[in-house]
Amino acid sequence: MACGGCVDTCPTGAITHPGPGRGITTAQPQPEQVRTTCGYCGVGCALDVVVSGNQVSAVLPALDGPVNQGHACVKGRFSHGYLTSAERLAHPLVRKNGNLEPVGWEEALARVADGLRGAVAMGGPDAVAAISSARATNEENYLVQKFLRTVVGTNNVDNCSRLCHAPSAAGLSAAFGRAGGTDSFDDVEKADCLLVVGANPVEAHPVVGARLLQQALRGASLIVADPRKVGLAHQADVHLRPRPGTNVALFNGLAHVLVAEGMTDPDFLRDRAAGLDELVELLAQYPPARTAELTGVPAEDVTAAARLYGRARRPAILYGLGVTEHLHGTDGVRTLANLAILRGAVGDTGRGHGVTPLRGQNNVQGASDMGALPDMLPGYGRITDPDARARAEAVWGRTLPARPGLRIPEMFDAARRGSLRALWIIGEDVCATDPNSHQVADALDACPLVVVNELFLSETARHADVVLPVASWLEKDGTFVNFDRRFQRVRTAVRPPAAARTDFHITHAVAAAMGADLGCPTPAETLAECGRVAPVFAGISHERLDREGAVAWPCPAPDLPGEATLYTDAFSTPDGRAQLSAAPYLPPGETPDAAYPLLLVTGRRWAHYNSGSMTRRGGNLHLEAGDHIDLHPLDATRLGVDDGTEVTVESRHGTARLVARLSEELSPGQVFCAFHFPESGVNALTSDHADTVTDCPEYKVTAVRLTPGAV
Ligand code: SF4
Repeated sequence: MACGGCVDTCPTGAITHPGPGRGITTAQPQPEQVRTTCGYCGVGCALDVVVSGNQVSAVLPALDGPVNQGHACVKGRFSHGYLTSAERLAHPLVRKNGNLEPVGWEEALARVADGLRGAVAMGGPDAVAAISSARATNEENYLVQKFLRTVVGTNNVDNCSRLCHAPSAAGLSAAFGRAGGTDSFDDVEKADCLLVVGANPVEAHPVVGARLLQQALRGASLIVADPRKVGLAHQADVHLRPRPGTNVALFNGLAHVLVAEGMTDPDFLRDRAAGLDELVELLAQYPPARTAELTGVPAEDVTAAARLYGRARRPAILYGLGVTEHLHGTDGVRTLANLAILRGAVGDTGRGHGVTPLRGQNNVQGASDMGALPDMLPGYGRITDPDARARAEAVWGRTLPARPGLRIPEMFDAARRGSLRALWIIGEDVCATDPNSHQVADALDACPLVVVNELFLSETARHADVVLPVASWLEKDGTFVNFDRRFQRVRTAVRPPAAARTDFHITHAVAAAMGADLGCPTPAETLAECGRVAPVFAGISHERLDREGAVAWPCPAPDLPGEATLYTDAFSTPDGRAQLSAAPYLPPGETPDAAYPLLLVTGRRWAHYNSGSMTRRGGNLHLEAGDHIDLHPLDATRLGVDDGTEVTVESRHGTARLVARLSEELSPGQVFCAFHFPESGVNALTSDHADTVTDCPEYKVTAVRLTPGAV
């Protein structure tokens, strides 16, 4: 259902591509094709874009695609109608007398440069901040952080991994040493046991979901841990359904059984791990019966899942935002990683195991890799580390500020307080996707200069002082990094409309308007410079990617292969050992009560992507026409709600209006909705609670109440 592959295999030709590409299939030779990488989710499917007359006729999954191997989903394949949408921004807009009015680039850039200079004059460099984009290329992200650090003189740059996988970067770095998954997904496919946690890859990462399902059908045991019975849970040997917010208790419970029943790897723990004694002491508090009380998962299911994982020869862990988007998301990542360390199932070439985060947006891994983070330089050199700073300073020829900058939520706080005076938002619709969206809008309204790079007049752009029209992923050149650390090329398939420009071009133009030259005249030269700042990328170049297709980082030299599997000799932690974490379960930020008796979980649906700005403008709207809220029939009966009727959802933070969909996928007392249609106002409901380590919002646990009809 979620792949659209029937257009490639329909034996009668009755099912074809919509639009001008009707009848085109993967099997036919295509005269005008551009190979690029999908700009939707983090899987990184290689796509062949069929172009005629500067129009996309069809998008075909590449048969030799390194990750997708001839597959794609309905987003990558079909959702390109937005390119020619009449709503596409074609000219810069500048606010005049309260209204956004079209202007030329010169005037728009002058307004941006004046505003940035004015902010620095009033409050110093730290009065300026930028939110870079997980949708932009690596080279664009590199340029943005270089602009903030070398032209403005601040580390106030962040990207939307703050809202999704920042706990992965923190947790995996603490456990293993590097801020990415431990293994190639190809190796994970050799696993004989798959533990899929807090993820619904069948909808959110469909090509990965399909490959995991194939592996299960080939005989791998499958454990799914997710509150909802969706996707792979239907095929699971054991489906664990923890109450939202109780992951750490569940992972500690599984670890308890591994230790209690001798399903650990003593040699690995002795030679390659640290922290066992503290962990064993903590795990005494998490026998299956207590784990069941804390999580709602039956004790026998905890034991059964631990035995499947513990007895497998090559157990692999894959996880998603259901692990990270919590008050204790980093603890969730670390206690999940404990399982792999206890089993010795990490750090061994090509065995088919490890711990792999399923990253959300197309280049959320790359945006962080490129240093669009307030505390990290490209390649994860800490800004507080004099050696890392000196390496960047030598390349950039500028002294860098040593104090870490603001994270995204801190930027909004600073704007509301009046200390942040200019905010540049690149390709993120923060008013639709960030939690407690009314407060986000208040922050933008309080900030004297808000600049937004966007395809459309988004919810966020409506609050801007300057809106700059940009090229989309099908209209630009560069690279993305996918969820298993593979660099792949992004190539221009069609030209952007009218005056729209790439984020790469715009960043250079803003710097020039401020009298600065960022160097890096082309994307290829930009990646080359990045390799001089960050040795882990030094062996990767556009030319090499054009030749080889995909290269994983770390890759320190052009004659070395990328390290698809990490830690085969030693972990990258200070003592070279994997670090076990003795983190106790702590409750989530919100729990249901009499006033707000239901628990809301938010996530994605199969046909749409993030705020839906691209997928809502085209044929995918026919696949899913709006947001709805799933609730159990028992709750629906109790509340007097019928399937398909309008409901009002209220939390302590705001109100949303949605259409009810009755579903036994959820447990009674829990409701689920996506956030693909900003007019629903779903993120007015979500709270400011955030991961205690990284500030990643707790999207997965919000106490709400629901009433029939529109209030
Ligand atoms: Fe592949 Fe993800 Fe794009 Fe779908 S959205 S085609 S799974 S990269």
